[in-house]
Amino acid sequence: MRPSLLDPLFAPALALPGIGPRIAPLIARALGLDGDEALVRDLLFHLPAGAVDRRNRPPLYQMPPSGLVTVEGVVERIEKPRGVDAPWRVILADGGAAIQLIYFKAQSDWLKKLYPIGERRIVSGRVEWFDMRPQIPHPEYVVPPERAGELPAIEPVYRLTTGLSSKVLRRAIGVAVGRLPALPEWLSPDLVKAQGWPSFADALRMLHDPATVGAVEPATTAWRRLAFDELVASQLALVLVRASVKRSRGAAWRAEGRLRRPIEHALPFALTASQRRAVAEIDHDLASGDRMLRLLQGDVGSGKTIVSLLAMAQVVEGGGQAALMAPTELLARQHFATIAPLARAAGIEAVLITGKDRAGEARDARDRIATGAAQIAIGTHALFQAGVSFRRLGLVVVDEQHRFGVHQRLALSGKGDAPDVLVMTATPIPRTLVLSYFGDMDVSQLTEKPAGRPLIDTRAVPLDRLDEVAARIGRAIEAGDKVFWVCPLLAESEKVDIAAAEERFAALNAVFGERVGLVHGRMGAAEKDAAMQAFRTGRTAILVSTTVIEVGVDVPDATIIVIEHAERFGLAQLHQLRGRVGRGRSRSVCLLLYRPPLGETAKARLAIMRETEDGFRIAEEDLRLRGEGDVLGTRQSGMPGFRIALPEVHGDLLPLARDEAKLALSRDPAFTSARAEGLRLLLYLFGRDEAVRLMRAG
Ligand code: ADP
Ligand code: MG
Repeated sequence: MRPSLLDPLFAPALALPGIGPRIAPLIARALGLDGDEALVRDLLFHLPAGAVDRRNRPPLYQMPPSGLVTVEGVVERIEKPRGVDAPWRVILADGGAAIQLIYFKAQSDWLKKLYPIGERRIVSGRVEWFDMRPQIPHPEYVVPPERAGELPAIEPVYRLTTGLSSKVLRRAIGVAVGRLPALPEWLSPDLVKAQGWPSFADALRMLHDPATVGAVEPATTAWRRLAFDELVASQLALVLVRASVKRSRGAAWRAEGRLRRPIEHALPFALTASQRRAVAEIDHDLASGDRMLRLLQGDVGSGKTIVSLLAMAQVVEGGGQAALMAPTELLARQHFATIAPLARAAGIEAVLITGKDRAGEARDARDRIATGAAQIAIGTHALFQAGVSFRRLGLVVVDEQHRFGVHQRLALSGKGDAPDVLVMTATPIPRTLVLSYFGDMDVSQLTEKPAGRPLIDTRAVPLDRLDEVAARIGRAIEAGDKVFWVCPLLAESEKVDIAAAEERFAALNAVFGERVGLVHGRMGAAEKDAAMQAFRTGRTAILVSTTVIEVGVDVPDATIIVIEHAERFGLAQLHQLRGRVGRGRSRSVCLLLYRPPLGETAKARLAIMRETEDGFRIAEEDLRLRGEGDVLGTRQSGMPGFRIALPEVHGDLLPLARDEAKLALSRDPAFTSARAEGLRLLLYLFGRDEAVRLMRAG
């Protein structure tokens, strides 16, 4: 149960004065909450993207050419617009000089109330010159002199969203700051002292009510303190999961490869050296009585699936069952299509459970798992929902692709008989970040691609050469090639993307007829299956898709991928998409279609894509490119799963945070001290409260 001390921070933002049902969703959107309701806590964690200084108060006869000013004068008159598109003008005068306050689309009554003729007003906003005269369009503050105190000297600036005014958001955050309860210190006092950090609450106050413009920078002690809190929360959760996994004894699987051998025989290729190494590392874990918690990290196309199957075969030989959880239904189906026939070669039965199967089939699959008639279950998260029970679950393989942290939830759910856990990720996360995502896991890496894979010929092509591209595609499919055609993420809504894909499909269909297929996220499972199957078997040669299917799709003889609006994708995503080709022996091509002119960052991204296929290098470059650029743009893309810590600014705190978390566990394993109370609060504050359950275990 959440400590009641935190109740005010977990109240919905909607409950704050001045926030109604219209504003609340806008706030949630500005805060990047992905559909969740905004809480007071979330407002507090929405740190400023910058700050402005309103202390520049020049007299009216000395207006600067531009910039933020606060001016004072007497309202002389209000002028009506002199044309349809013309603005209202309020003339503010003082000592013979005047300035015009410009309002487009204002209501006359509203203006008259705001600016009573003959009265003094203090006005703050951005000055500009027009026709040799200074003016302030849409001032941000207008107050009478007796309320001058309402004007902030230094004002934080927040990331907004359409329809949400900065004033409303600022006020809401101000109220949220006022609700901060007195909280105990959860960090080591020595550390706090040595770093010169303020308390958690003071740090939030310093950032939301800054004393200087520089006080809202990520490098300040206040921001670093909060970033550290966030990192400690995540590290503590990881340390707790790790400790509980290690504490629960796993089964020691006895297997000598009896089931594995026929599978290897059925493979049309030999394992790479790094696949063999990964298999050996996993074997070692499986054979030991400790529970396995291992990360299998390997670039797209490096062949993780087969490694996981060989691991599953060992467990099955030992009398257990295995589950493979994929991030999407499409991938679950694909894994099933790959694995089922290979497994059968060893007399192992695999079933598919996705939550979208027909009721009868689903029941049948569940029964076979429950009785042990089937030894491998492949599916989406539906696998771990009520209704599926295993006879003896020994190994869970989680294919995370890009969805970090799925396995944490799983390990925390504490389901089943403490199965061994193998997490597969296609993301070549830079080493500096592995710890923050995965904590203290053992890691196996697939460092090489299967032999004989030629390089992918990557080219950037401006969109106005689309006709040429189409002609080239035409020749290629004549010659028997298969083409992925990916349509971009154009809008925030999936619907619009699908429309773009459908449009492209129609255009290509007009040229190539039946040879073009389409797959997108809104299709039913059967339809998707059919589209994938048609492409796999070669009935269609061009598969138009949205990015919904980006990850993990395996059609080894596809040799061309066209990515439309490549300038809109991040590097990691481009790399993932390109990984759909270059899986067979023939030379593959990746065409990055872009709409000129390209911005600097987009240009750099496309250049890197042409230059390298090394996933690690691309990940590092991605981090670097995202670390630059304007502040407002950058702040949106910190580490996934983190709101305050920024990899490029606070990366140095990560090892410290790990030490702090480990220290907490070793000093007080049962978490009974007063400090532990604080850490419990910390876990709740940063949404890592699933781990709180593990603190009791001692
Ligand atoms: P990923 O690591 O992206 O999940 P997959 O497991 O989907 O990669 O494998 C990509 C492709 O490479 C598949 O078609 C698979 O059959 C093939 N493959 C896997 N291992 C080897 C190997 N050792 N030699 C040749 N091809 C392989
Ligand atoms: Mg895969």
